[in-house]
This record gives sequence, C-alpha cells and structure tokens, in this order.
Amino acid sequence: MTVERTLSILKPDATRRNLTGKINAKFEEAGLRIVAQKRLHLSEAQAGAFYAVHKERPFYKDLVAFMTSGPVVVQVLEGENAVAKNREIMGATNPANAAPGTIRKEFAESIEANSVHGSDSAENAATEVAFFFSGIEIVG
Ligand code: ADP
Ligand code: MG
Repeated sequence: MTVERTLSILKPDATRRNLTGKINAKFEEAGLRIVAQKRLHLSEAQAGAFYAVHKERPFYKDLVAFMTSGPVVVQVLEGENAVAKNREIMGATNPANAAPGTIRKEFAESIEANSVHGSDSAENAATEVAFFFSGIEIVG
C-alpha cells in the first residue's frame, strides 16, 4: 500500500445544490484526507485546458460550458491508494450505472452533471494536482 494524492473537483451541480459538505464527508468517512481545497469559478480557457484530453469527444464543448456554469471546489485528497479509492467513492461516470452509496449514485443529476471529478491514474493525478495547486498550498 502506498500513500497517494489525487485531484478532486466538486462540480457546479454540487456547489449549486450546497452539497460540498455532504460530499466531503464521503471522502473523510472512507479514510481520505482533504490536504488542499479552494473554491474557484473556472474560465472557459481554464476548463478547456483542464479537459484538453477530451477535446475530440462530442461532449467536450458542453462539458466546458457546464464546468464554467458556476463555482467549483478543487481539492487534493490524500490516503492509501487515493486515486483508485476516490474513483470507487465517486462511482461510475453515468449515475445510472453507479453503485449504491457512491457520490454519483446519491447526488449526480446526469452523465454530464455528475457532481465530482477524480483523477484516473497516478500519473494524471500528479499533472492535475499541479494544474491547480502549488506545493505550499498542500498541507499533509
Ligand atoms: P470520469 O469523470 O468518470 O473520469 P470521463 O473522463 O470519461 O469520466 O469524462 C469526463 C467528464 O465528461 C464526465 O465526468 C462527465 O462530466 C462528462 N461526460 C463523460 N461522458 C459524457 C457523455 N457521454 N455525455 C455528456 N457528458 C459526458
Ligand atoms: Mg476522467
């Protein structure tokens, strides 16, 4: 087992419905620690750059519009196998396929407005954490 860090985003559908505390409780109950956190309203350029890996996908334009539609909370989660553990707590991308008890099963509105983002590999986690946070903002 290794202690890892992963990048998490509470998406605009979650901030709009005042769900940040309920979602953070899921992370903490599962043993992940929030070692950095800030609330931002992403610009189109910032959201577009963050999701650049999806720019050829049909949903890219809508995704960028959604991610800039309201505030987000970006955070770094730390713990044993944090990348995979966070993906488990989040549940499947499409809430219709998400397991009971997961964030997306309980809170997501749709496949797009699915409440949370989580890095999908240790390598991407390092890039995504560095996209939003400098070293001194992460307090383990
Ligand atoms: P995940 O967030 O589970 O890693 P992806 O990386 O595949 O999923 O997609 C990034 C985000 O794009 C999703 O969380 C969701 O907000 C949006 N998205 C993915 N697939 C679709 C789709 N078919 N239609 C609309 N939005 C989508
Ligand atoms: Mg993804």
